[in-house]
This record gives sequence, C-alpha cells and structure tokens, in this order.
Amino acid sequence: MLTLGGFGQVGRSCMLLMTQESKILIDCGVNPGTRNPTESFPRLDWANITLDDLDAIVMSHAHLDHTGFLPVLCKYGYKGPIYCTEPTLPMMNLIQLDAIKVSAAQGKSPIYSERDVKQIMKQTITMPYSTVTDISPDIKLVLSNAGHILGSSTCHFHIGNGDHNFVYTGDIKYGKSMLFESASWNYPRVETLLIESTYGAKEDVQPTRQEVESAFINAVNTTLVDGGKILIPIPAVGRAQEIMIVIDQYMKSGEMVESPVFMEGMISEASAIHESYPEYLARELKQKILETDDNPFDSEYFTNIEHPDAREEPLRENTPCIIIATSGMLEGGPVLEYFKNIAPIQKNKILFVSYQVNGTLGRRVLDGAKQVSLIGKNGKIEVSNINCSIEKLDGFSGHSDYNQLISFVHKLRPKLRRVLVNHGERRKSENLSMSIRRMFRIPTHYPQIQEAIKLF
Ligand SMILES: [Zn+2]
Repeated sequence: MLTLGGFGQVGRSCMLLMTQESKILIDCGVNPGTRNPTESFPRLDWANITLDDLDAIVMSHAHLDHTGFLPVLCKYGYKGPIYCTEPTLPMMNLIQLDAIKVSAAQGKSPIYSERDVKQIMKQTITMPYSTVTDISPDIKLVLSNAGHILGSSTCHFHIGNGDHNFVYTGDIKYGKSMLFESASWNYPRVETLLIESTYGAKEDVQPTRQEVESAFINAVNTTLVDGGKILIPIPAVGRAQEIMIVIDQYMKSGEMVESPVFMEGMISEASAIHESYPEYLARELKQKILETDDNPFDSEYFTNIEHPDAREEPLRENTPCIIIATSGMLEGGPVLEYFKNIAPIQKNKILFVSYQVNGTLGRRVLDGAKQVSLIGKNGKIEVSNINCSIEKLDGFSGHSDYNQLISFVHKLRPKLRRVLVNHGERRKSENLSMSIRRMFRIPTHYPQIQEAIKLF
C-alpha cells in the first residue's frame, strides 16, 4: 500500500492498495488547512501510476478531505468504477458542487467543474451496507456503518483467496449519536486494521452525550438570555443535522430557551438527503421520520436562509437568535458574513461543535485571535475584531474519542495482526499507535505520507 495523503495529518486522505492483480485507490481528498499547492492534494504524482492503471476507486464517505480531489481524476480521464454507499453519492455531489461555489467566492479558480462532478455520477456504483462486491480480480469489498456521517463506511477488503483481510475505518464514531448507530465491528476476519486518530491523544476524551448536551443548552441559554446571538459554524453534513435534532428536542422540552434558528449554506439540502435514506439513520430517528409527524428536520423553529438579502432578519439588532451556517472551520461560505457582524459584539457567542483543523481560520479564532483579516467584497481585505465569547464543545463530534478508538480496537483484537494509524496530527497518530501496541501487544505503525507498506 502506498500512503498518498492523510497520514500524520488530517486532510487529503488517499492511499493506493496494490496486489498482484489490482490497483485500488481508497479515498481522494483535499487538505482544507493549507494554501500551499504541494500540500493541498494527494501525492498521486509520487505513486507513479496512470489513471488507466486503476481498477477501482473506493470512497469511505462524502467529506471533502476524503472526496475533494475525485472530480479532478475524472477531469483528467479516469473512466473506471467508483464505489461508495447509496447516500454517499448524492452527499458527495452536493459537497463537491458547493466547493466550486466556495472557491469562486474566494476569488480562486476551482480545480474542477460541474461537468466533472456529473461525470462521477455516471461512474459510481453504490452499495448498501454489508453486501459483498467484487471490485477487481482479487479483491472483494464490504462497506459497513462507520457512524460518522450519513452513509459513512468502514471498508473491508478481502484480498486474494482469503490471503489477507484489510479494514480501513475511514472516519469512525464508535458510539451512538442522535443521528446514527455506533460503528459496526463484527467483520468475519481482519488481519490489518487502518484506524483514524483525529482524537488519538490520551487527553482526547470527550464528555458523555449527556454532559455535552447540558453544556450546549447552557451555552445557548446564557447568550440568549443576555440578548445575544449565537453563531454555530458547522459542516453542512452530519454535525448540522445532529445539532438541529438536539435544538429541536430541547426547545420542545422547555430546557432550551425558545428562539428562532436560522440556517444557511446547503444545510437544508443535506438534511433532505438524510430524510431520503431513513434506513441509514439511528433507529429512533428513522421511526420518528417514517411513523410520526414529529420529523425534527421539518421543525418550525428552523428558517432556511436562501438568499443573502434574507440575512437582514437574523442580523437585526437586539434580536436574540441562533445562526447555524457553513463552513464549519470558517474557511469560506456564508458563515463568514455572519462572523463579520457577530464577532465584534461582546454579548454574542461563537460556538464551535466540530473539529478545527490546524491552519484554518476557525482554529485561529479558537486559539484566541483577537483580530483576523477576511477577504471582503471585491477582494479587499477587511479586518474583523473579535470581542464576543468563544466556546468549543467536543462531545458532538462525529469522530471517536480516544477511549472509543481503543474500545473499537479491543473488539477486533483477537484476530488482529497489525494496526496502522492515520488521519490525525502526527502527535495524535503516534500516541494512538503507541497505546495500541502497549495495551494489546500488537505491532503498530503510524506511517507518514509517501511510505510504501507491505500488508502481507
Ligand atoms: Zn469525515
């Protein structure tokens, strides 16, 4: 296997699985935390292959750091199959098309066009969870629930005639959320596990759901009572729907102060895709959607902002409200327009509920920046002061925390021969790798980019 991106870092996840008879590309993302072109994209150049050499591409889930470079492969002539789950296809399309808009709005030229995204639809073969598919002469693939976002999957590769079984977790939540069941773990065989390590450091222990939900209620209530506005920068897919369900539930129960909730940036489109695949959602949520009128996505608290002119209402002075807008790391998107208005005013709050990658504006704000420069209209640089309060809540993450990662490995332990660690800042991958080696006495490794790893 060649590591092409997303090792020792979060971003541009990509690897090439090679056997005697096949070459499979797994994930193909971009790196949101850098402007430097040599660090933005997977190192396919280093792999020294042509697109015709690839037998198949497998996408673990729709997020851009796993799918953002795929349209470029189609642009340059990849004609082969792309495998992913049923909801990953529309979700990936939505996210890839939005990325074109976001880069255009930032004055950059997009790396692919709408045509390339449409081409993906023609080449994609969708698979339900737990079905076995031959993807090349000597590899069978099974995708299983990863609990991370809608349609997210762990990828089980059965190589040769039972010679080797390789499981790539992709991004994984080994714990139940309001949206999804916990990740599956009952693979018939796994010898090599490649596991993510976004929260791989020992101290990365997230509060329980109950704790984070009451912290969330508290964070929202204090600001609303003070007459302030709460801005929640959010990835359109996954966290947005989770937060919507939480808000709807606690406003209805009276524990959260009732207020209007405005949403902007394809959150409603992403929610609609969730509603179209109820079988991929957590049991109770599926039931609510299919069997009752209490569909949280249609709740009357939510107003979707469809045009920039409509921002006047959420931004009107002295009207406490909640604003949920993309992007989640303040890297472009409508959230920046709200940020400029909300950040300078002391009684307001910016509330992060998702991971902030190193190098993003979100991370700088979270790390305490008091002033940031933004590209304004006509490409002019505008300086924004940050006087409002900043808060981050961890327990809503779609990623497993340290304990959940360890528990997941524990479940697979009897059969494992080796564990590889990726998708984490270097220190986190190293720590998770060391912990697993010590606790389970299994050889582990946390590769860097541009390593060749012999799996068997
Ligand atoms: Zn992800």
